[in-house]
Amino acid sequence: MAERVPFLQKVGDTLLANKQQYAELMTAEMGKTLKEAIAEVEKCALTCTFYADHASTFLADEPVESDAQKSYIVYQPLGPVLAVMPWNFPFWQVMRFAIPGLLAGNAGLLKHASNVFGCALAIEDVFRKSGLPEGLFQTLLIDSAAVEGVLKDQRVKAVTLTGSGHAGASVAAIAGSRIKKSVLELGGSDALIVLADANLEKAAEVAVKSRMQNAGQSCIAAKRFIVEKTVKKQFTERVIEHIRQIKQGDPMDDTTTMGPMARMNLADDIERQCHESVRKGAKLLVGGDRSGCNVQPMLLDQVKPGMAAFDEETFGPLAVLIDAKDEGEAIRLANQSDFGLGSALWTADAEKAERLARQIQAGSVFVNGLMRSDARVPFGGIKTSGFGRELSEAGIREFVNIKTVWIDTN
Ligand code: NAP
Repeated sequence: MAERVPFLQKVGDTLLANKQQYAELMTAEMGKTLKEAIAEVEKCALTCTFYADHASTFLADEPVESDAQKSYIVYQPLGPVLAVMPWNFPFWQVMRFAIPGLLAGNAGLLKHASNVFGCALAIEDVFRKSGLPEGLFQTLLIDSAAVEGVLKDQRVKAVTLTGSGHAGASVAAIAGSRIKKSVLELGGSDALIVLADANLEKAAEVAVKSRMQNAGQSCIAAKRFIVEKTVKKQFTERVIEHIRQIKQGDPMDDTTTMGPMARMNLADDIERQCHESVRKGAKLLVGGDRSGCNVQPMLLDQVKPGMAAFDEETFGPLAVLIDAKDEGEAIRLANQSDFGLGSALWTADAEKAERLARQIQAGSVFVNGLMRSDARVPFGGIKTSGFGRELSEAGIREFVNIKTVWIDTN
């Protein structure tokens, strides 16, 4: 560990030294605004610092009281880990696996999404430039059909996948067939619950930011706004105001706040989900225009279970409003989902917040704040949002052998 930490500190320095170049590459390949891309590189560098500061403690030997003379736990690497990653946060998704994974002593093999292969090569280069041994982190420019062969190779010990449920089920089945560990970070349909006593101004501002950042292409976006009926009108007015302030355009332009979606088929999907929901009775309050991958941010009202905008993951700039008659119904609606990634709860009552936070079926609950990944706390989901955790102490312990050492010399 003492040898590895300085290398990972250099990775952070390399990221910061070249952040403009890496950010421009992300923007060119998948359309996020340059500002968002720069913030993404900075977040990766910050995570290097976090793990450089804490990895030794997270993986230190742990003495255990037993009837042995001496017993303790050691955390040892598994070996090469395959990472199958998505395009929506091309640097962050990879780095949040790679930084703790390499610090734990593993090697990394990256199969990145096909539409960000430039980022995939740039990330490999970050590690090379930072002086890591050649091959310790490798990008494989392969398509998804080749993943099976790589994962079945006996040199590969485990796999982590961030992406859709379809890809996750396939990769976890292959890993299972060879008894290899897998971590799955899959889709979400996060609820953002607004109770009657919430700070509506702040809730609306954060709800729109959470839903619309990265042109709505975030696993942990607030995908369903569930609002207590008594404050629905006031909340909706504020949401509309914030949506109208979004400035679409050239993602390289500093004043643009929403770039295009990454691919035409994703724009088709979000449009279909909106149209299907309208056919079933939802009401479109804002948006509806589209020019290629530039989908105008949309707000749908009167969304209910049984509509695509409620039941499916919506991966684009579509916000939806769902009525709840009271807090009980709000929680029930939030949990009425196949997914369980993140969630948010807006209320001024701290006691109520802590009580309800335990009732929400999700990997995280953010009270009066923006749902996000943060190196200091575990990130991951339940239900069809996957299993296993990234980041924090939990994340660095996913790909290690937790070995018991039991010593009796009598
Ligand atoms: P995707 O189609 O599942 O692709 C993700 C990665 O898996 C890509 O590298 C892709 O390669 C590969 N892949 C696809 N099908 C595969 C298969 N059958 N076998 C092996 N590899 C396969 O997902 P996406 O559309 O790019 O990303 C959006 C999804 O990711 C959303 O559902 C989103 O919620 C989820 N996501 C989850 C998190 C999280 O942390 N929970 C974070 C971000 C995104 P190709 O590009 O070559 O097809």
